[in-house]
Amino acid sequence: MRRVAIAGAGLAGLTAAQELRRLGYDGEISMIGAERHRPYRRPPLSKEYLLANDNDNDNDNDNDSDNGVGVALAGIDDLSVTWLLGHPATGLDLVGRRLHRGALPPVPFDALVIATGVRARTLPGAGELRGVVTLRGLDDARALRAALTTRPRVVVAGAGFIGSEVAATLRALDLPVTLVGPGRVPLRRPLGDEVGAIVAGLHRAHGVDLRLGRRVAGVTGTGRVERVHLDDGTALPADLLVVALGAEPETEWLRGCGLRLDRGVVVDRHGLAAPRVAAAGDVARRPSALLGGELVRVEHYGNALEQGAQAARALLGVAAPFDPVPSFWCHLYGHRLQSAGFTGTGYDLRLVTREPDGRFLAEYHRDGRLVGVVTAGFVRRLTTYRQSLTKEYA
Ligand SMILES: Cc1cc2nc3c(=O)[nH]c(=O)nc-3n(C[C@H](O)[C@H](O)[C@H](O)COP(=O)(O)OP(=O)(O)OC[C@H]3O[C@@H](n4cnc5c(N)ncnc54)[C@H](O)[C@@H]3O)c2cc1C
Repeated sequence: MRRVAIAGAGLAGLTAAQELRRLGYDGEISMIGAERHRPYRRPPLSKEYLLANDNDNDNDNDNDSDNGVGVALAGIDDLSVTWLLGHPATGLDLVGRRLHRGALPPVPFDALVIATGVRARTLPGAGELRGVVTLRGLDDARALRAALTTRPRVVVAGAGFIGSEVAATLRALDLPVTLVGPGRVPLRRPLGDEVGAIVAGLHRAHGVDLRLGRRVAGVTGTGRVERVHLDDGTALPADLLVVALGAEPETEWLRGCGLRLDRGVVVDRHGLAAPRVAAAGDVARRPSALLGGELVRVEHYGNALEQGAQAARALLGVAAPFDPVPSFWCHLYGHRLQSAGFTGTGYDLRLVTREPDGRFLAEYHRDGRLVGVVTAGFVRRLTTYRQSLTKEYA
């Protein structure tokens, strides 16, 4: 194996390249990235990045110093790879071992890592109006941050992780925020009703106008958004609509290539989708031992790190099957929510502890077995839970 191509210059792709080098692979590595940026950290983009002053000088690769907000990832400068940025991979020839990039020369490879992540869902029909934004990448965050300087009235469509975090961050800037979500509570699908109710309380206590059980049905305005219409007929005056309706795996470019695509790129317990073809990070769907072999796709930072490294080991033939215990963190009004394992409406939720100061701990069970836990504040107990989940299922 002398040529490795990595499609997707994000966290999982970077981690795969770093692990290949760490394990002594000294052949070529080509990193193909749709964005013009080298890999960077996305989590700050819905948090502290939006709070920084917008004196952006928009250099080509200015992630490292973006207003002092830490989006830089370590170990990029001394990584020996060929960066092919600013153009997406558009097709995969598995037999000929070539990756296509539109009219550009194809990239030949002996082994491939697919790490193209996900793309934010958009609101049908809203694309033409200014003031309607999604948040996935650095360029989105820059546009959103620039829009905040006019102190807009903001509607956030979608009360998942990104919608909830954006609402919380914009309240820290004292902007008027309406958060619209289809569930009975925010974060209902990933965290369940009781934990979502705690989050709803936090939003309300910080002045967010919560519109629950509602969807954004449309947007009107002359040239730019002026009103956001809900499915109950309410029209909300707004200068900015942040669309945070979740994400879709970036697999369009792989259609018809022969790999198994099913709400992501399906991989085995080694992280392989085909011989010498691995997939990692948000785009990969893999069997989880914790859930009895069920295929899962996880959109969390730690997962991209673990799977990126695993992809490299699988390509080098040194991988043992692994069953990571997923985890996330999320910042809301000074509370840090953290998890281990699987959480959400699909499991039986037991709120184990809830303190008046906002700290809580909740367990998630399936068929009587613990599969996940989420907490704000009980970090030591989370560590113990994580160890027991890892031991039992790894
Ligand atoms: C605003 C925001 C906040 C977040 N906050 C948290 C958090 O607090 N905690 C947490 O655990 N997780 C958080 N996440 C999730 C976390 O950042 C992701 O799980 C992680 O970035 C996934 O890494 P990845 O490499 O799989 O995908 P990405 O980081 O998305 O990288 C994929 C890359 O592939 C590129 N690409 C797409 N299609 C193509 C193509 N056809 N060819 C070439 N390149 C392509 C994309 O442009 C992108 O650069 C957050 C995500 C966002 C967007």
